[in-house]
Amino acid sequence: MNDAFELLKLNIHAVTFTIFLLGLIFGSFANVVILRLPKGESIVVPSSHCCKCKHKINWFDNIPIISWIFLLGKCRHCSSKISIRYPIIELLTGLVFVGIFLKLGYTWTTLEILIFSFCGIICSVIDLDHFILPDVFTLSGIVIGLLGSLLNPERDVTNAFLGLFMGGGFFWLVAYGYYLLKGEEGIGGGDIKLMAWIGAVFGWQVIPFVILVSSISGSLVGIILMLGSGGKGLKTIIPFGPYLFFSAILSIFIPPEVGFDYFNYFIP
Ligand SMILES: [Zn+2]
Repeated sequence: MNDAFELLKLNIHAVTFTIFLLGLIFGSFANVVILRLPKGESIVVPSSHCCKCKHKINWFDNIPIISWIFLLGKCRHCSSKISIRYPIIELLTGLVFVGIFLKLGYTWTTLEILIFSFCGIICSVIDLDHFILPDVFTLSGIVIGLLGSLLNPERDVTNAFLGLFMGGGFFWLVAYGYYLLKGEEGIGGGDIKLMAWIGAVFGWQVIPFVILVSSISGSLVGIILMLGSGGKGLKTIIPFGPYLFFSAILSIFIPPEVGFDYFNYFIP
């Protein structure tokens, strides 16, 4: 009995470690997509090459995190700098994957949230770089999210549809109101689609939490950046996608009542 328990424990460690490695590999792939998708390049061919000297990167120089450390962040051929962003994104993906697995365990929802997070990391960095959330992710995310709610017995179709309309609808209203007041675009169309995507994957219950946490975290970072730039950055565009993804993923680690409490302030 004890042996079986020990074996099970060992097994869970092995699976967790495997998920971490899987996360690193997906993180490495995320780096490729982040670099190539906005330029309209294929994400399959050509194989990885140095941005500067175009030299093909050998498999042993392409191992997540480890290769970057061994190469001291420099290309083997031309010694040009390889951004520390690559290993950071790999590590982040690995840690997020492990966190989700440890929290949700062997469920279909785990698989759905893993896919969402993988796309979220890619979209967040693209949003930071280019101020866009590609439709290829947001729109297919909505479709896959709704399909998931139909196929995944742990989820409820009605919740997903309500989430889609609540999330997308709320942001659409705010965007429309802002436009009426200021005559300019405040919330991008990508953010509206992303909120609909979040609603379709996490259900309507998560929407108040996501709105609250993304606003607070976005404002905090905005204020810090503004202070850092000596108050010159008042009109700087702040990409909002990363905060929405962060809040949505954070919601699975927070009890759902937290969101409802916030809701209750407005609806006594
Ligand atoms: Zn090079």
